[in-house]
Amino acid sequence: MVAKSSEQRSGHLVLPGERLGVIEEFIPDSGTYSKDGVIYSKIVGCALMDMLNRKVSVYPLVEEATVPKVGTNVIGQVGNAQSDNVLVRIFKVGDKNLSGIFSGILHISDVSDRYVDSMNDACKPGDVIRAKVISEKNQIYHLSTADNDSGVLYGFCGRCGNLLEQKRNEMRCPKCGNIENRKIAPGYGKEEI
Ligand SMILES: [Zn+2]
Repeated sequence: MVAKSSEQRSGHLVLPGERLGVIEEFIPDSGTYSKDGVIYSKIVGCALMDMLNRKVSVYPLVEEATVPKVGTNVIGQVGNAQSDNVLVRIFKVGDKNLSGIFSGILHISDVSDRYVDSMNDACKPGDVIRAKVISEKNQIYHLSTADNDSGVLYGFCGRCGNLLEQKRNEMRCPKCGNIENRKIAPGYGKEEI
């Protein structure tokens, strides 16, 4: 009664390694593998038993994982800062939240199209930035905020941690009056993250 149970499984959620049938009844198709004559699901998905063509396949239920790619815009939070670069924890690509955290690095030479003397004048740890991925090596994404639409979306006071307000060419802390510099992006303080 193997065929019947397979039929009943059609359209159901299956897990990797779940038995789908045997090669005597089906041809293993996409999303499946066979071992010792038994067909198993390779992925989490929806099983489809094509009784007419005697094929079994599994369709992924979830969209393919979103990962940063060269040329895409990402949103991340500035972490550790050195004098000439900062680490960025990327959590969003385009308008999609990422399931994992990806590491980016922003070098001082890629901060702005103008000369920047100190990383502190562009962004600081804790800031949320929009950046473009310019290269990738060993899953470390090299970022740039030189574009007009890139830069800091939310900047926080280095003294008290309050959100800085944009006042003409400087950033001012409404709480403690501290004045700082940032390379800000359009939509500063308004972007939904
Ligand atoms: Zn402050």
